[in-house]
Amino acid sequence: MLRHIKETEKTMGKTFDDIFEGVKDIAEIAGQKTVEIVDVSKLKIELASINNSIKKCHEKLGVLTYNAAKKGTDSAVIDSCIEELDALYAKRDECREKINEVRPVRRCPNCGAARSASAIYCNICGEKIEK
Ligand SMILES: [Zn+2]
Repeated sequence: MLRHIKETEKTMGKTFDDIFEGVKDIAEIAGQKTVEIVDVSKLKIELASINNSIKKCHEKLGVLTYNAAKKGTDSAVIDSCIEELDALYAKRDECREKINEVRPVRRCPNCGAARSASAIYCNICGEKIEK
């Protein structure tokens, strides 16, 4: 009886270790993926907000340009609006680069065209893509 329990403990112990190891591995992989997803979605939110600011700035520039042509408003306001836009464009490029760093663009080995992660054939040259 005692021997039987000891045998069971031995088996159970090993099983628990195995399960624990397995869980640890999965948790580590999941952890890495989560970090990546969080980073990308944060950056995408940032990018969306920059794009929104660019849109607003374009509208403002439109109104300013209209007023300048119609009423002869000081063009300095337009210049500052253009500066603001340029800063936003730079910020947008920076944000896009960051996204590419976290999730690099996959390219066709034959022609170098950007492709989706799930692509089997290149859209541009038709090269079969090895997984
Ligand atoms: Zn290609």
